[in-house]
Formats: sequence, C-alpha cells, structure tokens
Amino acid sequence: MTDLTNLTLSAALDGMAAGDFSSEELTKAHIDACMDAADLNAFITTTFEHAMDGAKASDARRKSGTVGKLEGAPLGVKDLFCTEGVKTTAASKILGEFTPTYESSVTANMKADGMVMLGKLNLDEFAMGSANETSAFGPVINPWRKDEDLVPGGSSGGSAAAVAAGICLGATATDTGGSIRQPASFTGTVGIKPTYGRCSRWGTVAFASSLDQAGPIAKTVKDSAILLGSMAGYDPKDSTSIDAPVPDWTKSCERSVKGLRIGIPKEYSIDGMPPEIQTLWDEGIAWMKDAGAEIVPITLPHTKYALPAYYIVAPAEASSNLARYDGMRYGTRVDGADLNDTYEKTRAAGFGAEVQRRIMIGTYVLSAGYYDAYYLQAQKVRTRIVQDFENAWESCDAILTPTAPSAPFAVGRKVTDPVQMYLNDIFTVTTNLAGLPGISVPAGLDKDGLPLGLQIIGKAMDEDTVFAAASALEKAAGFTARPEKWWT
Ligand code: GLN
Repeated sequence: MTDLTNLTLSAALDGMAAGDFSSEELTKAHIDACMDAADLNAFITTTFEHAMDGAKASDARRKSGTVGKLEGAPLGVKDLFCTEGVKTTAASKILGEFTPTYESSVTANMKADGMVMLGKLNLDEFAMGSANETSAFGPVINPWRKDEDLVPGGSSGGSAAAVAAGICLGATATDTGGSIRQPASFTGTVGIKPTYGRCSRWGTVAFASSLDQAGPIAKTVKDSAILLGSMAGYDPKDSTSIDAPVPDWTKSCERSVKGLRIGIPKEYSIDGMPPEIQTLWDEGIAWMKDAGAEIVPITLPHTKYALPAYYIVAPAEASSNLARYDGMRYGTRVDGADLNDTYEKTRAAGFGAEVQRRIMIGTYVLSAGYYDAYYLQAQKVRTRIVQDFENAWESCDAILTPTAPSAPFAVGRKVTDPVQMYLNDIFTVTTNLAGLPGISVPAGLDKDGLPLGLQIIGKAMDEDTVFAAASALEKAAGFTARPEKWWT
C-alpha cells in the first residue's frame, strides 16, 4: 500500500470516499509518523487513543451515509484553541494543567465535520514570536533541516512543521501579525489568514483581539480551501464574527485569473532583503502575467510605519488580555505574602521573557501620559494603512508580495535580539492591521535548498480571488520539493 502520509487532504478524503482505505488506516499511519517525528517537538499533547476511537466512529458514520467535509481526516490543532477535556496550554506555564470544559467554535465546527484530532500542536507562548522559540515546551524544529537545526517560523511553528513533515494532513493555526503565513513560508506549506471576522475567536486563547484570526496550514491551496471552509462561519458568541455565507472555496481554486489586476507595492522592496527573494517575487510577477493577469504597480506609502504600529497595538491588547492570568482563575499559582505579592510571584513564574516584555510594553503605551504619544499614534497609523489598501483597490484586485524577508534561520540565531525577530513580520502585519485576507504559497527554494513563499493579499471578504490567484501561483511555481526525512 502507498504511504498514506504522502497524500494531500483532498486525495485522502477522495480515497476514503472511494473505499480505498479507512479513516482507521489513515489515522494509524499518521500516528506512526507522529511517533517517528518526536524529535521535531511539534506536539505539546498527543491524543492518539482518542484519535483511533474517533477514526472508528468516523468509519461507522461513513457506512451509515453521513459524511462531513473533513470526514475521518487526521488533523492537528494549535494549542491555542480550547478543546473540551484536552489540556490547553498556549505553550505557557501559566495555564498549568488547564483543561477546558468547552470547545472553541473553530474546532467545534471541524469536529462536527468529522475531523480526527491527533493532538495539540506547539507554538510560541501565547502566539508571541516568529520562530517558535518562546514556547515553554521547547522549540519546534523545522523538518527542512540542513546541517543545523532550523526554526519553523512562528507562532504556528508546530502546525507548519507537522504539515511539512507529513504527520498531519493539515492543521489549525492563528495569525495576529503573520503567524500562519510566515511559518508556512518557512516550511514549504500553504497558510491562509482569512478576513478578520471569518473565523470565530470564541474559545481561542486571546493575544490581540482586534488582530487575531484563525486559519489553516495545509499542503496545497485546495487543502487550505477545504479546511477554511470548515473552520469559518458566523458565530453569535463572537461579537466580531461576520454574518456572511461561507462559499465553496475549492471552486475558487479553479477560477481563472485572466484579466485579474495584480498590484505590486513598491514599498515591499526593502533594504537588506536577500536578492533571491526579490528574484522569486519577480518570477511570481511573470507567472501571474503568463496566467493572464494584468500587473499594476501600486503604492502603500505607510508600510514603513506598520511594524512600529503593530508592536504597539498588539502588546497593548495583549497586556489587557493577559491580565486575567493572575493565579486565581487559571492554572499556576505561586503564593506570596499578600494578594499583590501572589499576583507578582505567579506572573513572574508563569510567563516567559517574551510575554513579560510584551506586557511591559503594552502597559507602558497604555499608561497615562504615554497613551497619546504611542497608542493613539499607532491607531492613527493603522487607519492610514487601511486607507492605503482602500486606495490600492481602485487599481487592483489582489496584491502579490513576498511572505517573509528571509528563509528559515538557525535555532537560537535571533532569539536574543527581539528587534531582529520582529522584522520577520514586515510583509505580514499590514493585512492584520487592515483586517484583510492573506495567503502564503510555497514558490521556490533558496540557494541552500530551503523553502520561500509568496503572499497574495485580497480585499476584505474576497477570499474567492485570493484562492484563485494563489492557485495560479501554485500551478506556475510547481513546488514539489519535500524535506529529506532525517528524523527517523
Ligand atoms: N510574530 C508576530 C508576533 O510576535 C506575530 C505573531 C502572531 O501572528 N501570532 O507578534
């Protein structure tokens, strides 16, 4: 029998529908692969027994004629989504043994559609990071290792590594400033952050509420369309959820891009970017042109203020969201002399260095006297960035950019220099600030044979065009490289 872990999600769903193999067989193959890949440290918690029971139940459902959109597919869940009865950590010590009594809306949708959950995937602590090195459970190792261990990107590093290694058919992820797209770029996988409000935030541990969005990491653009089709949908439990129908985005993947106007923002050519990323971007432009799209130069003049604005807005919201971890309600508590001392000791012991840094920055920029100088300024910049995109849409229908300014780098290389780390998000934060959909598609390899991605940004609620353009890019790039399997 062929190795079932080489299949795409789409092929696996077709194979089960045709009766070529069962969910039980498919799930077993993935569990074996997960066990082989322990060195990647992709999982925080595995739920293999549960998964086998789920697979058997799915096979029985299929026999009785009930087949959901993800029926019987073994998938991974970023450990930021609350899962009923399964420990949820956000990769932080502060949550201790927290085991939710409820299910996040996104994972509830997927379970209702027949997902088999293999376990909870590693991430940066509270999704704060770009290399999966801030996790309290240790770094995730990129399957694309050469002579040294490389980071898989972050914060959804476990999700990206697991999909790239073929140990999950797909995975959930979240993106506040690039955490789906940058790890996808670093691992040769596809990752889409939909329009803000497409996926419910209910039951997902909050980082920065006005920026957080869930989305999938997958092997192909079509797989990402299948997954997002299950994850998305209106949810009255999230007041920012958008009440709009969820189209069949697998159809968008077949849409032609003839006549589509693709914008190329000149501000995304930045100093210090490796020339091969510029070359790949130029290639991407040629591919889109060959596919019949019209290329239009555009300007997004406030791009240079996006990172500073993001690194004020995101920590500000985080400092407020993370105030709830006080040792009284969740997880870890370190008793002190009095209440304040208990708060201080608990938070000092429970939060890692990066999370503490964000809380301090966030508290500072929100405090009296600094609010106007920093937070308010950042909000004004955010409005300008929204307007930049509004202006751009007058001349184009989607935008093509690189996803990240570098290929995956070595574990430990940037972890001591937060500003270097923050620069990773330069091409991704703008879409979060403006609430727009963005997808990363693997497009080529650098001189060391490491994957590089290109990004398509679309108008709000226009995932249809994003998927169409991404499919065209995927087809033209013909990216079939896989990491060499060194981990068994
Ligand atoms: N790398 C960015 C940060 O550290 C984005 C993280 C994310 O999207 N969750 O804030």
